[in-house]
Amino acid sequence: MKHASITLVSSALILLGLAALPQAQRPTEPAAPAAAAAAAPLDPRVAKLKALLDADVSSPAMYDLGQQMNDMVFSFGEIGFQEVETQKYLGKVLRDQGFTVRDGVAGIPTAWVATWGSGQPVIAFGSDIDGIPQGSQKPGVAYHDPLVEGAPGHGEGHNSGTPLNIVAALAVKRVMEREKLSGTLMIWPGVAEELLGTKAYFVREGLFKDVDVVLYNHVGSNLSTSWGDSGGSGLVSVEYTFEGETAHSAGAPWRGRSALDAVELMNVGWNYRREHLRLAQRTHYVITNGGDQPNVVPRNASVWYYFREIDYDSIRNMWDIGDKMAEGAALMTNTKWTSRVLGTAWPRHTNKTLAETMYANIVSVGLPKWSEADVTLAKATQREMKVPEVGLATGPIGPLRGRERIPDDEKFGGPSDDIGDVTWNVPTVSLSYPANFQAGPGHNWANAIPMATPIAHKGVNAGARVQALTALDLVLRPELVKQARDYFENVQLKQRKYVPFIRADDKPAVWMNKTTMDRYRPEMKKYYFDATKYKTYLEQMEAQFGYKYPTVREERK
Ligand SMILES: [Zn+2]
Repeated sequence: MKHASITLVSSALILLGLAALPQAQRPTEPAAPAAAAAAAPLDPRVAKLKALLDADVSSPAMYDLGQQMNDMVFSFGEIGFQEVETQKYLGKVLRDQGFTVRDGVAGIPTAWVATWGSGQPVIAFGSDIDGIPQGSQKPGVAYHDPLVEGAPGHGEGHNSGTPLNIVAALAVKRVMEREKLSGTLMIWPGVAEELLGTKAYFVREGLFKDVDVVLYNHVGSNLSTSWGDSGGSGLVSVEYTFEGETAHSAGAPWRGRSALDAVELMNVGWNYRREHLRLAQRTHYVITNGGDQPNVVPRNASVWYYFREIDYDSIRNMWDIGDKMAEGAALMTNTKWTSRVLGTAWPRHTNKTLAETMYANIVSVGLPKWSEADVTLAKATQREMKVPEVGLATGPIGPLRGRERIPDDEKFGGPSDDIGDVTWNVPTVSLSYPANFQAGPGHNWANAIPMATPIAHKGVNAGARVQALTALDLVLRPELVKQARDYFENVQLKQRKYVPFIRADDKPAVWMNKTTMDRYRPEMKKYYFDATKYKTYLEQMEAQFGYKYPTVREERK
């Protein structure tokens, strides 16, 4: 998920995939009037328990816990389906705190689900956990300076969301134990989100069958949420593989049939067709296998496509066109083609009641206080990236935005997240929290710069406060859970019903990224966070590399 420039554009818009649009093109979304239940004055007992909870999450001990988990996951820098150390570490934290942790859910080795408590409501905290290729970066350094050249890293900030959820859930668990409250807390990670690789399988596995609400989060640069039609894209991710026949490329090329030719012709065909597709589509591809060596006619070649569109039917249509292109390329080259699905995501629709409940807590928590060092790092990175030097979000908190349905001609497409599939199966809300700043283009080392610094630590703590307060609202006020279900069934599902893109015999692409991780992990291990020796990862960086927070490029005079 990301975008390029902008000052204090609310990160809800980033989640909506709209932040890249100039102001004039953005759909006008009226601020929604808060519904009765979410806005009603709080019962004194609820208010008191919430105040105690907030004090607990704000405590130095909980701040440090969030910081330590955030920094540890950052240092692992693991990409999708290879979140092995991350799983081991977070699983241990949760088991030590009395959660039951089940590993390998939905046939995905690095996926897990942690639960505690019993009875209703069942509240499931979710957040993505994987890094991105080429994301390696020393935290707190305001220019490109990888920890390990070429290695993956958290250049999307997914190291922060699950630590945030764990801090929130632990604090809520303490209140529930003390007050003997009914309810079940569940924590699950969005494994391989960058590949849109798992959430449809979680749904198929029935992970959310008994869940009442999902409290999701995603890193952003401000504190916000929204509800309704996200206006963003969904997608299918499909790899096409062609098979021909080898031959001596000089001695007997007429006896060969080139699978690489088929890949190239498919791409040429797609790029011509692109002009005649709806404006809302976005398509990108990489060639995952281009053959072996030039003097052997390539027998096998593969190309991997993301077909993005703004609604289910249009996504299916794009997929059909892709299949036709593959068929045409195979005919032209006398090769055969097959395809496999590597990932899917539905366009997102989040819950109105849950967003209103969360929004009230966002307003009460407010933005973190940034230090001069935090602002220096943000501005120096923005200068480095040649975007406006706006620093960090300082408020005021923007209005709650949402619409049940955004007309097609106001949707421009953009990023996707497979939380979309979850949002169509259980009432879901997503929190955006300020653990990053507007600078990088997204999926880039620049987006990793603040992710193990006090900027991320403060953002995680502020987010954990909102997430915890929202969860406690739902535990203490069953009418909110009922109202959320009512919106889900009687408004959202009246629009359309969920049909998964994955087919009965599709399986999670769990082999992906293994080669990359095997290549870089030995070197990356040297920089895993040693929390027994250092309080923060920045302290470790100072010891290992001799730099201090913040490190910025010297001004040329
Ligand atoms: Zn993301």
